[in-house]
Amino acid sequence: VLGPRWQAYQLITPETPAFTCQPHLCDAHCCRKFTVNMGDGEVARLERTTGLIPAEFLEVEDGRPIALPLAQPYVLAHRQQGCHFLGADLGCTAYPGRPEACRLYPHFVVAFDLEHGRAQRDRAPELPGLVESALAGEDTGAMVPLLLRHSECPGFTGEPLGFEAWSSLFRATAKLQSEVDVIESAIS
Ligand code: SF4
Ligand code: SF4
Repeated sequence: VLGPRWQAYQLITPETPAFTCQPHLCDAHCCRKFTVNMGDGEVARLERTTGLIPAEFLEVEDGRPIALPLAQPYVLAHRQQGCHFLGADLGCTAYPGRPEACRLYPHFVVAFDLEHGRAQRDRAPELPGLVESALAGEDTGAMVPLLLRHSECPGFTGEPLGFEAWSSLFRATAKLQSEVDVIESAIS
């Protein structure tokens, strides 16, 4: 329904089981597989919370962090076993300062364009307002916000969310995504 780019995603509804990260079920799949891009603020936060200098946790060239021509130019260092910060117990050793993509995963909000029958990827700043209007039962026109989960994550094993928890998750995901549009990095 969402188009080929979104085949890896499923809709989250109030009936969807609640999520808890269970890295032993997937061998920390997301921390091994995905490339994580970051902006200056995220790099500064990781520097502050880990006590490391950026060259120690970013991909480097000639000893200097690589800066790609993107809004989030820096790339979290990947080692043979996955992310630089992935611990032996499959936990994140940089949890308090982890990048926004890690805070967001495995949830995403997209604005679905009913008129053209596809999800729009460039509407991040509008997402919180759109979600608020939809939750209030207002007419959002041709643009409908959808809360999605990444299909490969096995952490959806809890009780059904229920409307309140679903609404909160919807709002929180839209807010985080609007602050840093991390979809590109999270699914690349
Ligand atoms: S894929 Fe899901 S369950 Fe596995 S480590 Fe990532 S967030 Fe946790
Ligand atoms: S920073 Fe932490 S949560 Fe993010 S990919 Fe690395 S180990 Fe996983």
